[in-house]
Amino acid sequence: MSDTQLYPTPPAENSNSSGERKKRQVKQVVLLFSPQLMALASLLPSNRDRARMLYALMHAYGLLRPFATVAPGGGSLQHGKRGSGAGGGGAREEEEEEEEEEGEGGTQYRILKPNAATRADLAEYHEREYLDYILSPSSAQAEGGEGQSALVLDDLGLTDDCPLFPHLPAYALLIAGASLTAASALLRGIATYALHWEGGRHHAHRGRAAGYCYVQDVVLAIQRLRSLQPVAQPARASGDIVGAEVGEQPKRRARVMYLDLDLHYADAVCQAFAHSRAGGVLTLSVHHASPGFYPSTACAALTRPDTADPYTLSLPLARGAGNGTYARLWPAVERVTAAFDPEYVVLQCGLDALAGDPCRTFNLGLDRAEEGSLGWMVERVLGWGRRTLFLGGGGYESANAARAWTYLTSIIAGRPLNARADIPDHVFFGQYAPSFTLDVPAGTMRDENTREALDNIVGVVDVLADRIRGLRCSM
Ligand SMILES: [Zn+2]
Repeated sequence: MSDTQLYPTPPAENSNSSGERKKRQVKQVVLLFSPQLMALASLLPSNRDRARMLYALMHAYGLLRPFATVAPGGGSLQHGKRGSGAGGGGAREEEEEEEEEEGEGGTQYRILKPNAATRADLAEYHEREYLDYILSPSSAQAEGGEGQSALVLDDLGLTDDCPLFPHLPAYALLIAGASLTAASALLRGIATYALHWEGGRHHAHRGRAAGYCYVQDVVLAIQRLRSLQPVAQPARASGDIVGAEVGEQPKRRARVMYLDLDLHYADAVCQAFAHSRAGGVLTLSVHHASPGFYPSTACAALTRPDTADPYTLSLPLARGAGNGTYARLWPAVERVTAAFDPEYVVLQCGLDALAGDPCRTFNLGLDRAEEGSLGWMVERVLGWGRRTLFLGGGGYESANAARAWTYLTSIIAGRPLNARADIPDHVFFGQYAPSFTLDVPAGTMRDENTREALDNIVGVVDVLADRIRGLRCSM
């Protein structure tokens, strides 16, 4: 396949999205990756070897090495149509400051090695008893909880879908650590967009594993983005001003919006920030909810327009939700974003809503050319012009997960692959039968979201967006 087929003509930049910032700038994109992260993530019992397939495919497409899509001075990009800085020539060291010059554009893409979290980092959210257990050396040896107390395991959620597995302590520390490394890179201005596809473990509770999630990297990352920063940097908009006493430099906390596109309700993340720090963190989960569907909680129902907490939003969709349903809903999501005006966005890109997932509940496509698809939504989020942390999540058809996160990486890195690109020959090539192409097209599942139901959801969201704007204006 030629370069032209791999990388189609880029779309017009950032058109008509809420919160669009007109100034063009060099975007710093970092992918959190290390061989150790891949090896540990591949041990996750619910997603064995998914990470190996993902990074093998990314390597095959040249996404595990740095590049630049545009650099002042011209030249041509290896494999790309735009810009200069062949191969890793345009990559920067971690500590370099971001350029934000008027009139400059393009992307610097590079790989950032994650640091493991410490126990103290995890203790910012998790309970001590839970950490004692999942970080103990005996847990590192346990396979399926052998030799452990069944009562204790049950109490900590370490049974059924979250069994103990070898190297769980190292896994928990590195998955959380990678999300924290990513958050720090955003906070320090090293990254405009940070990607950690092994993160997004949105069901892990303070004292209990749940839904294939052992460690709550999402909450930890949001907490870090909310850490006190001197008023002068890095963001300049208003926020929670703290500690402005005489002789003391005032500090503030940024506003963070969490948007969750996984098939399942983001229960633990929404719960962590509900009714707290009003106005600081907004959580918005778009998911499926029906009797008995995981996680079974009343909170997964449509948020009431008169809710006491308009910063914790839940948008359930009926079975079969596809591109058209997401396209209908998306402008309302953007109105919430504009009303809240976040400085940081955390986007959970779980893939179990994609067509072909074994959950067989939603029917979302991938190709950004299709309005409402996952690729299209990610491109819209880029158009918001906010510093963003992109996380993974569910996704149980490993080849499709590898396709999707590889494709999304290429979009975020400013060098979008063609969804119809052939899968390159590599060690897992045979897993991509029968299409052997990158795309995950929507299937033929019937979309049960009626126009009336979607109109109702959009109406409720619009009321909530107005309330959020009103609350922000009165601060
Ligand atoms: Zn899920």
